[in-house]
Amino acid sequence: MTERSSFVVVANRLPVDEEETPTGREWRRSPGGLVSALHPVLASHRGTWVGWSGGASEPTALPEVPAVVDGIRLHPVPLSAVDIEEFYEGHCNSTIWPLYHDAVEQPRFRRRWRDAYRRVNARFAAAADAAAAPGATVWVQDYQLQLVPGMLRAARPDLRIGFFLHVPFPPMELFMQIPMRAEILRGLLGADLVGFQQPLAVQNFMRIARHLLGLRTRGDLLETDGRRVRAGSFPISIDVRAMEMMCADPSTLERAKQIRADLGDPKIVMLGVDRLDYTKGIGQRLQAFRELLDEGKLSVPDTVMVQVATPSRERVEHYQSLRVKVEREVGRINGDFSQVGLPAVHYLHQSYSPNELAALYRAADVMLVTPLRDGMNLVAKEYVAARADNGGAVVLSEFAGAAYELRQAFLCNPHDVDALKDAMVRASSVDFADGSRRMAAMRRYLRSHDVNRWADSFLRALEDPPPVGVATVSGVSLAPVADARR
Ligand code: UDP
Repeated sequence: MTERSSFVVVANRLPVDEEETPTGREWRRSPGGLVSALHPVLASHRGTWVGWSGGASEPTALPEVPAVVDGIRLHPVPLSAVDIEEFYEGHCNSTIWPLYHDAVEQPRFRRRWRDAYRRVNARFAAAADAAAAPGATVWVQDYQLQLVPGMLRAARPDLRIGFFLHVPFPPMELFMQIPMRAEILRGLLGADLVGFQQPLAVQNFMRIARHLLGLRTRGDLLETDGRRVRAGSFPISIDVRAMEMMCADPSTLERAKQIRADLGDPKIVMLGVDRLDYTKGIGQRLQAFRELLDEGKLSVPDTVMVQVATPSRERVEHYQSLRVKVEREVGRINGDFSQVGLPAVHYLHQSYSPNELAALYRAADVMLVTPLRDGMNLVAKEYVAARADNGGAVVLSEFAGAAYELRQAFLCNPHDVDALKDAMVRASSVDFADGSRRMAAMRRYLRSHDVNRWADSFLRALEDPPPVGVATVSGVSLAPVADARR
């Protein structure tokens, strides 16, 4: 039996990627805020990360990942081709994902997907059980693993269990549609602390727990089976310092200049960076851009749009039809408004490295972050952190979690194309004094609310649950977070 850990993270994916290097293929720590925030805690506790390696493997054959990468012990959970289809593409991304994002696409319900969700969640719970030392802290992440806290609690009452949902938690009217709604709720209630991105999600959760299970709630606490469960809002953030350092590197600024030159040195570069997902509002954004060009409020080649649309969930039907729609609209705009060598929309169906994204952020005058619903949207925060020059402007959907914090953005309702157009025009014509005041205020906020503070505040709340009656405002914990930056 392998050595057990006092701190265990359970997430759908392991925090490593296999990369081609000059000396052959190598496993490296994945980029991204979550991994970098948890790395110091994992490294100092000889912690273990339980997750799927990303490929299909038979349930008995463990995927070939190293035991330790960069000080993080890895505990792989195998998923077969059928698990990937029924659990990951099915229940996770065709039922829960659309339903938790305001049903902007119709959720699909299948009994065998639900069975797969139970089966795979049980496998993750068993792996976490095996990895956790007596009395360990286990932090379960996200919508793929909502049954794990309950399963783990039943097997291991000695553990302290936290759960954080990275996506929105829907209002009761939508949640009640899920055939396994009570099971999911009980699964979440296996945790000592359930964290959400926004106070509204906490309210939804409390209301559903009262209505569906008849639980008593008081402040941010719920009582279930003689235990107290706390719910709170912990908006996730990014590694602000890492982004600032990347953007202080002359090679990033040089690359940004090169990108602008390659775009034909336009006056205004508008940028979107999204997974190609129907929640991101890419269609509405393109429609707004086309109408602005049509009305002469913007013109090519003075203004160009760059849309990075990272390939995502390509075997799921909703995503295939979205790609067709987006590419048709890009083709239409370019057909109507491009000039030879000067496209109106630069559409990039590719994935970029953090360095290249940083250069794109520095090259862009207006960042378009217009999801129809998004748990947070880290891209919005990355753009703000990248602009140490206080240049640029952000058009931000009111339906992104980031809108609760980045109040100086040009906020808009992306369902209202006229409002979206108005925000795009205002952002692209903002004067430097107003624009830099807005960017500086948002950067100041982010510096004191980075991903390390997020992880620290969650883990502190998990280790030290408050007594009944702790002061809260709309589910936001007021417990002080001392020395959050490392
Ligand atoms: N990202 C990336 N390469 C790309 C596009 C995006 O590394 O080509 C990263 C981006 O920097 C951000 C994350 O992917 O950290 C996207 O997070 P976000 O919360 O905006 O959206 P999600 O994809 O999680 O819905």
